[in-house]
Amino acid sequence: MTVIVLLGAPGAGKGTQAQLLAERLEIPHVATGDLFRAAVRDDSPIGREARRFMERGQLVPDDITIRMLLDRLERPDAVGGAILDGFPRNRAQAQALDAALAEQESRVDLAVNIDVPSEELVERMSGRWVCEAAGHVYNESTNPPQQSGICDIDGSPLVQREDDKADTVRARLDLQLVSLREVIAHYAKAGILRTVDGRQSIDDVAGAIYDVVRGANASTAG
Ligand SMILES: [Zn+2]
Repeated sequence: MTVIVLLGAPGAGKGTQAQLLAERLEIPHVATGDLFRAAVRDDSPIGREARRFMERGQLVPDDITIRMLLDRLERPDAVGGAILDGFPRNRAQAQALDAALAEQESRVDLAVNIDVPSEELVERMSGRWVCEAAGHVYNESTNPPQQSGICDIDGSPLVQREDDKADTVRARLDLQLVSLREVIAHYAKAGILRTVDGRQSIDDVAGAIYDVVRGANASTAG
């Protein structure tokens, strides 16, 4: 099993890349946001626990998120590994995930950071549009929908959130980068961090990530 954590600031294209890599490696893309939605929809015991927090507008506690992740990793389609997207988001979560995986005699094998300079992120994020139905994300310049203002996946209208405008994006990003740098440092210290230049086209970034993963597997094997 190869557990890969994909890292990147909001706007770095992490979700898109996680999906592309999952298809290429034929292992699941495990996004914590999707896990929450699925658990609530399926009305599982853990989903009910998570929903108590979500309904109050609170963050789902890390231990619940980690239990969901571990459950997901035990499903048959994840026998070859999985790509984690959206977790861990800070040092404490990274440490908790390490501890939980270690109990299962597993671990994070590789962390790939999609690196994009913050001013470029601000530019990208202020062009961000999200679909009303499911939160699918588009960008005016890097990932436009095929038809302007409409989600490719479900046809629902795309909206620009108030806080996706440049000033608020910049302030919020500064805060988020503090946590991201913690997580990056955590995996760097563990010797499993690789960095990919996120300023390239989506295809080139995907190719670079794939090369990194293949290289990491090769070095593990021999
Ligand atoms: Zn959509």
